[in-house]
Order: sequence, then structure tokens, then C-alpha cells
Amino acid sequence: MGAYENVHERLKALGLYTIENTIDNYLSNAKDKSTMEILDHLLSEEVKSKRSREYEAKLRYSGFPFRKTIEEFDFTFQPSIDKSVINDLLTLRFVHEKENVVFLGPPGVGKTHLAIGIGMKAIENDIQVYFVSAIRLIENLKKAYNDRSFDYRIRTYSRFPLMIVDELGYLPLNKEESNLFFQFISSRYEKRSTIFTSNKSFSEWGEILGDEVMASAVLDRILHHCTVINIRGESYRLKERKKNMLASERIGEKK
Ligand code: ADP
Ligand code: MG
Repeated sequence: MGAYENVHERLKALGLYTIENTIDNYLSNAKDKSTMEILDHLLSEEVKSKRSREYEAKLRYSGFPFRKTIEEFDFTFQPSIDKSVINDLLTLRFVHEKENVVFLGPPGVGKTHLAIGIGMKAIENDIQVYFVSAIRLIENLKKAYNDRSFDYRIRTYSRFPLMIVDELGYLPLNKEESNLFFQFISSRYEKRSTIFTSNKSFSEWGEILGDEVMASAVLDRILHHCTVINIRGESYRLKERKKNMLASERIGEKK
């Protein structure tokens, strides 16, 4: 085999598929480039595509129900949110300091969107994130407890420097469930960061968690190092629906 075939075979053997796919074309257009410039270009393209494959894999692994960035969030629609607080969270200092974040507010105000936006930023910065709904989390903890794999499950969650626990408070927990949830919270306390979203105010957490003593034990740990963002505003979903309704009315008028 000649050098041409050898190069292609070796690039494939090394998994350098971006170079393998582009090298012929690039070389034929790079007559005026030095060898170093050519190598630099090909290698940097390979590194870029490797990074984006890794980013994509981490995003898929994170379990986000949808992908929305902070840039896609319209802050003018939600003036109760202090943008500087969000900007501070985007520095990810809170993850390094093992602090928590709680988004509170009625449905549709963007709690999950903001949590995912911060999560995506974390992944960009090589921080592995795991998103789970509170209902799923409790189910998984219960299942693990019944299988006697609770410690293993907790250790698995502990691998994630950042978890997002979404929609706490849609279902009230029984005594066993709130106990397992408490153990989950304790396992992350001052060790790992967690973002929570909830449509219930802290005073209502007693109802979610079955009793006041359990609620205050949980809240104590979550809130000890925590940024709380209370969103008081209109549902964005409702706004969209109203806009669509107005548009269709207008179309109706024209007829
Ligand atoms: P919540 O979790 O508070 O119920 P979501 O974050 O799921 O609300 O938001 C509902 C939908 O509206 C999502 O598609 C989200 O991207 C969008 N949304 C909410 N608030 C905004 C906003 N201020 N700017 C842009 N999109 C928004
Ligand atoms: Mg939500």
C-alpha cells in the first residue's frame, strides 16, 4: 500500500474521522500552506468535532426534558427575576462552592427553563449534570431501597456535581418517601449542588413532606447555602396562547 492508503487507514485506526473525511479536499486547496499550518488546521478541526461530540453525549446523558438556553429566556417578560443573580449563577461559582438553587413560582413562569439553561452552561464547562423530576427521583429511591441498593443509588447520584430536581411539590410524600428524600438531601449537603424547582412556597413544604419536623430538617439543609429565586409573574405558556388566540381572532375579523 502507498502512503495515501496508509494515512487513511491510520486515521481510521486512530478514530480521527474528521481529518480522514476532510484531508483530501483540504490538501488539494492548501498548496500555499506550510506543513505545520496544514497539521494545525486538520488537528484543530478534529479537536473541535471531538468537543462537540462530547458535549452532545453529556447533554443526552443529562436527561433534560428539553434544551433551552438562558439566551433564549426573555427577561423583559419576567421582571421579578433579578438578571444579575442569574448571571452570578452562570459563573457556576455555586457549583464549586457546593451551594443550592431554588426556583419558586407558579406554573409556566420559566423555572424549568432557567434550571436547564444553567445546567447547559455547566455542561459546556465540563460539569456533569443530571436532571430528574421529583416524582421520578422518589420512585427511584424507593425502588433502590426495596432492592437493597439504596447506598449504591445515592453514590451514583453523588457522582454528579450538579443535579436538577424538578417539580417538587406536585405530589405529597408519605412518611417513608420523605425519609428517603431527606437522606438524599443529606447526602448532597455541603458536598454537591442541587437546583430545585417548586410551585409550592416554603411554608407549604410541610404539607409536601408529611410533617413540619421533616420539612424543617430538609429545608435547613437545602437553604443553608442557597440562592432562592422567587418568580412572581404571568405564565409564559398562557401569554403564548393569548397571542395565538388574538392572532386567530384578527384573522377571523378580516374575513
Ligand atoms: P415552569 O417550569 O415554571 O412551569 P417552564 O420553564 O417549563 O415553566 O416554561 C414553560 C414554557 O415557556 C417553556 O417552553 C419555556 O421555554 C417557556 N418560557 C417560560 N418563560 C419564558 C421566558 N421568560 N422567555 C422565553 N421562554 C419562556
Ligand atoms: Mg417546570
